[in-house]
Amino acid sequence: MEFALLAHCYERIEQTPGRLEMAAQLVGLLQQTPAALLPTVVYLTQGQLGAAHEGIETGLAEKNLLKAILRSAGGSKQQAEQLWVQTGDLGTVVESLLAQGRALGGRQTTLTPEPLTIEGVLETLRQMATTTGAGSQDVRIRLAMQLLTRASPLEARYLCRILVGRLRLGLADMTIVDALAIAFATKEQRDVVEHAFNITSDLGVVASVLSSQGVDGLGRLHIQPGVPIRPMLAERLNSLDAIVEKVGSDNLLLEYKFDGLRLQAHVRADGQVALFSRRLEPVTAQFPDVCAALQQMAKGRAMIVEGECVPIEPQTGELLPFQVVSRRRGRKVDLQEAIAQVPVRLVLFDCLADGTTQLLSTPLVERRATLERLVGSTEELPPGVGLTRVLVRPTLAQAQEFFSCSLSDGAEGIMAKDLRGAYTAGARGWQWIKFKREYRAEMVDTVDLVVVGAYSGKGKRTGWYGALLMAAVNPDTGLFETVCKLGTGFTEEVLAALPPLLGDCVVPLRDPRVRSSLPCDVHLRPQHVLEVIGAELTRSPVHPAGADLLEAAGAAPGGGLAIRFPRFTGRVRDDEKGPQQATTTLELVDMYQRQLQRRG
Ligand code: ATP
Repeated sequence: MEFALLAHCYERIEQTPGRLEMAAQLVGLLQQTPAALLPTVVYLTQGQLGAAHEGIETGLAEKNLLKAILRSAGGSKQQAEQLWVQTGDLGTVVESLLAQGRALGGRQTTLTPEPLTIEGVLETLRQMATTTGAGSQDVRIRLAMQLLTRASPLEARYLCRILVGRLRLGLADMTIVDALAIAFATKEQRDVVEHAFNITSDLGVVASVLSSQGVDGLGRLHIQPGVPIRPMLAERLNSLDAIVEKVGSDNLLLEYKFDGLRLQAHVRADGQVALFSRRLEPVTAQFPDVCAALQQMAKGRAMIVEGECVPIEPQTGELLPFQVVSRRRGRKVDLQEAIAQVPVRLVLFDCLADGTTQLLSTPLVERRATLERLVGSTEELPPGVGLTRVLVRPTLAQAQEFFSCSLSDGAEGIMAKDLRGAYTAGARGWQWIKFKREYRAEMVDTVDLVVVGAYSGKGKRTGWYGALLMAAVNPDTGLFETVCKLGTGFTEEVLAALPPLLGDCVVPLRDPRVRSSLPCDVHLRPQHVLEVIGAELTRSPVHPAGADLLEAAGAAPGGGLAIRFPRFTGRVRDDEKGPQQATTTLELVDMYQRQLQRRG
């Protein structure tokens, strides 16, 4: 199948603003894809070379891709670099250089190039990914050139973006789920498709099984050791009274909520452990100490368990701030040194499989009992693993006391869980409710917002960014709707770190996925996610966030929601959340309505 088909479809998707229309474009592509190629087309459309948990990357650095572009397309280095700074996108750079070169009858290394095929492209990309050792960057540059010399300008645009893992179609995984359901089942069967994705985390497998065996085939998919399950997510409430009333004392389990990195651990009977982050990335190599502790705990039993990985002060055994765990991440970390300086503990809170028995539809009360049995005596546990403290069926007074204890023990609050609840993979629901320290104050809660613009600093901040324009994500359209300007909470260190962090997201015009009526000095491609806390949510004529939802819920027209007195908490959430996982406008509207209720 020709790669050009893919490139033309991506171009149409990129020009399409709405989720429904994007899905419709994709349906056409999926239906004309031969069965054997479906997984590949789906992964490439996700901007990946395989399922997220496989963690396959070409390993081609952007500066090396620029070399490959210049060598294959010609053109001036200075012009290319200038365009790169302006657009932040090497896809646009190569497209423009190739178009210019070919218009002038310029450099084209292959006289009658064979059309690129999707199979061929994938093979080359995978070859890059498996190249190791000295000289591997040169091999990658050469392989990239082989592709680019055969590509049309449009094909080259998407090839380059795939090469560096930034396809930027603005297409959420859930839109691919929509398209798969329409292409190979019915709209009504979409939930079955989503469920299959939630338990396999692999849209390539889902596409392949659905097209060959239909929804019945999807029904036969099960969770598998070594393949992560999409995490269950929590709703939030702002008072313990509301929580006790919502779940009912008799069905309530309260549990310490730690602030760290969520990890899903797959332990095999032979002791091998695989760890996955909340974004389903493989992180096993970063936590050999946790793997060893789990292995010791499991004593040859297979299991899938989930927990929060928290840093521990080696002298006192007390919890440290979550940011400390991030020191384990990144490529250039000296792991042995990091392990010695910042020991971590995986505090377990759920069990998704016991041996070969999967427990997703088992009520929490039984999953917890299984987890406790698998963990065994907590006194005998190695320091790298632990178990959350719980309180079952508390009265309101007991719940309040438990919450206070959680804070004094270094947790950030509690999770309230319904003892009857199943593990609803990939879904945010009321079976888990978070209640955090911040709710006690006047503040609403922390939210995770996407940076979509920036303002030049003045006075003391001259030369830096003075404020950022922040947006929440609309869950229906995948668009980013602004909700505040953020100028507080930045230390000098953070201010200095922002230009390099945001630099390659700078775009000349507002990104088409951003909804905003505010001008800004610098437009940024939605990519980075920052944690923000504010005093309250108010209606705003200038910010569009949630306007459609508010009006659909009967509110008078009056714009969307704005966060008053927003402050950066200091936490960049890029490791855990991509822009599509940021706080949604639906969540904001929900928080706003609850705030109104609280005020009577
Ligand atoms: P979300 O995961 O809901 O999108 P988030 O990543 O911003 O949000 P929080 O809103 O603070 O995190 O709370 C949910 C997270 O809390 C879980 O994803 C998990 O990482 C963490 N967590 C800590 N302790 C527990 C616990 N006992 N049970 C479940 N999750 C817990």
